[in-house]
Amino acid sequence: MTWMRILVANDDGYLAPGLAALVRVCHEFGEVDVVAPEQNASGTSNALTLQRPLSVYTTPQGWRYINGTPSDCVHVALTGLLEQRPDLVVSGINNGANMGDDTLYSGTVAAAMEGFLFGIPSIAFSLLDKGWGNLDAAADVARGVIASIVGDLGGADRPTPWLLNVNIPNRADSASLPRRLTRLGRRHASEPVIRQVNPRGETNYWIGAAGDAREAGEGTDFFALASGCVSITPLQVDLTDHAGLPGWSRRLGLTAP
Ligand code: MN
Repeated sequence: MTWMRILVANDDGYLAPGLAALVRVCHEFGEVDVVAPEQNASGTSNALTLQRPLSVYTTPQGWRYINGTPSDCVHVALTGLLEQRPDLVVSGINNGANMGDDTLYSGTVAAAMEGFLFGIPSIAFSLLDKGWGNLDAAADVARGVIASIVGDLGGADRPTPWLLNVNIPNRADSASLPRRLTRLGRRHASEPVIRQVNPRGETNYWIGAAGDAREAGEGTDFFALASGCVSITPLQVDLTDHAGLPGWSRRLGLTAP
């Protein structure tokens, strides 16, 4: 087996059980560096901290954590902390699903995307439902996914980067479930904001929960999970509405690229 260098990050913070589970798995595949946020940074998407300096701390077992976002962690790791470029960046295992529209908000996906943007194959792992139920089984799934792509990595040539988004059912038997190659579904708009009056008499607002699946047909990540499968979605970063270009060309009287 190819012995790799693996950078592990997450968005739930360096103390999250899902990070520890993923790190344990990665040690089976190579040299591991851990650079994770100091605090839970879920829902921070691709944010970079530009208005204040970042501090890097090291735990007794040699993990690094940063008072910043998931993207900060991978960015700082790749541009300054690590002595060698990793062969693979993995993120997670997240406390909760990252399917459909979640991928736009997810810090877990963003950490992997930062690796991808730097030209490194990257994988985001998320476990359905909150609370780390069946985390060991989810780690077994992560091991299986990494094992299935390890042949692409660690060679002398730099592989074409790719970005995978993996969602794992919260089941004790998830390691024996089929894997499905999927596309992203869509969610309904999120639940309404929750208004509360705090002890000082001020009104505060909590962002509402994510909406239920709206586009969850066959082939989607939602469908795979509802069918008791592990979902693997290859992601891209280009937000261009390619299909819409001809229409915009006509409406605006401009030549399509
Ligand atoms: Mn999270």
